[in-house]
Amino acid sequence: MAASGKYNDRLFFTEKLLEWHAGHHRPMPWKGERDPYLVWLSEIILQQTRVEQGLPYFEKFKAAYPTVRHLADAPEDEVMKFWEGLGYYSRARNLHAAAKQIAYELNGTFPATYEGIRSLKGVGDYTAAAIASFAFDLPHAVVDGNVYRVLARYFGIGQPIDSSEGKKRFAQLAQQLLEISDLGFRISAASLPKSEIPNPKSNHNQAIMDFGAMHCTPAAPKCPTCPMKPHCEAFQQQNTAQLPVKSKKPERRQRFFNYLIINQNGNFFIKKRTEKDIWQNLYDFPLIETATLPDDRNDLTGHVIFRQWFGENGWRLVRVSAPIKQQLTHQRIIATFCEMEVEDDFSPKKAGWQKVEKEKLSDFAFPKIIDLYFQKKFLPLEIF
Ligand code: SF4
Repeated sequence: MAASGKYNDRLFFTEKLLEWHAGHHRPMPWKGERDPYLVWLSEIILQQTRVEQGLPYFEKFKAAYPTVRHLADAPEDEVMKFWEGLGYYSRARNLHAAAKQIAYELNGTFPATYEGIRSLKGVGDYTAAAIASFAFDLPHAVVDGNVYRVLARYFGIGQPIDSSEGKKRFAQLAQQLLEISDLGFRISAASLPKSEIPNPKSNHNQAIMDFGAMHCTPAAPKCPTCPMKPHCEAFQQQNTAQLPVKSKKPERRQRFFNYLIINQNGNFFIKKRTEKDIWQNLYDFPLIETATLPDDRNDLTGHVIFRQWFGENGWRLVRVSAPIKQQLTHQRIIATFCEMEVEDDFSPKKAGWQKVEKEKLSDFAFPKIIDLYFQKKFLPLEIF
């Protein structure tokens, strides 16, 4: 029976992909790594993060915590401090929680099945497939942003990648391609000694992600030199810029943070963010959140919370910084930093504030917006 056109397109895709990959390896220090702990570490660090940015963090974690038990036994504040600057801090909290799961509930043995890996805290479908294939060569196709883009373009799929039907369709297609690729790979390697046969699932997954990252890139895909172009729908239809399609635009909420930098003889008050909100378990300064930025200093010092905390006397507002902004996935934070001095007998009216010497502030993990303030602190920032 003749192969269908669809099947031929898929076969062509997998053949060209592996050929392309043989000549275009993206060098990364964790490539070829089979230790599931290190594969997991690199995958969590690389979520939503560029390779150049993630690499020093990977090296730092690997040196500080060479095994999952070292990571599990580390104090949480230390893990958060190592993570500082990388963003998406829930990854660090989940990483630490999952290390404890493996160390204490699984006797230190990393799960070796897709389901076992998927049950770790902070591990979603993509990460589970990546670890399962890279560390154990299990047949699970990865579907990340690169894969969505490559498949949407090559197969001309206009279904939104963030719809549940779209996700299902792309996942099925990616899985079928992995199976075709695996079969072809094994046939072509049949004459090789067993020890020299590479890991086909891992190889295919790596190839498709590298192809998306290096060749079929978001803004400027290299179509003229692309081995896929004879069968690529988007190239034929000249609509690469329109694919892949996303249905939802993330809602961005604006929040206004008025941080109080309370100086008591060279000591400063900080607090841990324990509430269920952004930056959980990082440290920041006492904070009054307002609906807009205050127009002048009286707006802030007259605020009901400010009055509760400081009363009428015993404090002096020194200066207020210009607004500093940080863009998060669903929120835009606009913060000002109000530097103030308090008298010796001031004690916090709110639980959880911790007094820290100025020199010790750098021992704590702060969100990026506070690091930006530290960097700009000595600039003339007065606005009131
Ligand atoms: S022809 Fe262009 S759009 Fe199609 S797979 Fe190649 S690089 Fe991507």
